[in-house]
Amino acid sequence: YCMPSLSNRIQNLKPSPTVQMGVKARELEMQGNHIIKLNYGEPDFKTPFPICDAAKKGIQEGYFFYTPVPGYLELREAICNKLKRDNQLDYSPDQIVVSCGAKHSIANAIMATVNEGDEVIILAPYWVSYPEQVRLAGGTPVYVHADITTQFKPNIEDIEKAITPKTKAILYSSPSNPTGAILSQKDIEELADIVRKHDIYVISDEIYEYLNFTGNPHASIAQFEDLREKVILVNGFSKSYAMTGWRLGYMAAPLPIAKGVSKMQGQVTSGASSIAQRAAITAANMLPSELVHMKDTFRKRRDKVVQRLSQVEGMEVDVPEGTFYVFPDISGVLGKRYGDKVINSSLDLAMYLLEEQKIAVVAGEGFGAPNNLRISFAASEEDLDKGISAIVEGIAKLS
Ligand code: PMP
Ligand code: GLU
Repeated sequence: YCMPSLSNRIQNLKPSPTVQMGVKARELEMQGNHIIKLNYGEPDFKTPFPICDAAKKGIQEGYFFYTPVPGYLELREAICNKLKRDNQLDYSPDQIVVSCGAKHSIANAIMATVNEGDEVIILAPYWVSYPEQVRLAGGTPVYVHADITTQFKPNIEDIEKAITPKTKAILYSSPSNPTGAILSQKDIEELADIVRKHDIYVISDEIYEYLNFTGNPHASIAQFEDLREKVILVNGFSKSYAMTGWRLGYMAAPLPIAKGVSKMQGQVTSGASSIAQRAAITAANMLPSELVHMKDTFRKRRDKVVQRLSQVEGMEVDVPEGTFYVFPDISGVLGKRYGDKVINSSLDLAMYLLEEQKIAVVAGEGFGAPNNLRISFAASEEDLDKGISAIVEGIAKLS
């Protein structure tokens, strides 16, 4: 008995480290361990009541059938209103494609733009799935790195230097997973100046838009009229509305891209879940002020976590401007020992913390930052207190 081989595509694909850590933590729990999970980027809040109510209504009203492939018109209109209300952006509903999560929207954006051999510039540290999605499309990721010494802000000139005739797109998230860094209006203007000069797309992942602690308005590269044919804006419902399991995201894109993506979804996934879409109409119509309690809670947790971690010897902490992640530099811990184990990498440290301290975090390697460790503060105050104590103690035990 010999099984035919899997595709090269799948054989060459790396698993998602964020998903993998989730699986590992769950496995340890099944064996009877209590694991504190500061690994997943997932709000611990329940989806707001009016959104759940809209889903129930969707069932009562009989929304059981296939939806239009790019999403219900009512939802796409609500998304256009949201983009106008919050971001002063003019999009028409035929430029919006609703998908099964922002992860899916990013994959769609890449599949619609990247050819075999094309390069995609990814601002590092980056979200784990970007490089693998680029590779799946046959493209080559090219990284422009930033580290804690510049608060993880990229040097905009380095981006321009990375552009070659093969460059097809620039891809980043702001606010950034994993660093929490936010590109300011000035950063975005400088980036726009570069994009203006080149024949390239920008895929702008804005899923953490509402988790911005700076007090400054969210700056999107979609604001420039003359770049509208180049910008694919991605956003979604998971983080801002605590709707991770509902699986709903969207892109706002130039019309040919939106049409192309819709054609692809028509062959691959069809429209996203009807009930989730009914709920999302209510979500998109909610004002950011109705969701601000979540942001305020995350900010308080951030302050506490940063304050505690800053005192850890071997860790250097940058104050994240947004999101619910802190991404300390742990170079000072590398080379230390626990018994006969040497902590040689962020991966070693994450495994040590999981096995010895029963605390799940994500190693920096998967984010293109092997000297850092990602700790999510999207967890209850109790878990956060215990979890941070376990990290502090775990590192103190190393010699
Ligand atoms: N982009 C970033 C930067 C993220 O952190 C996530 C997190 N899960 C996603 C996209 C995907 O979100 P979802 O598919 O749940 O909408
Ligand atoms: N994006 C979240 C994270 O970075 C959830 C996991 C995932 O979708 O990969 O943890």
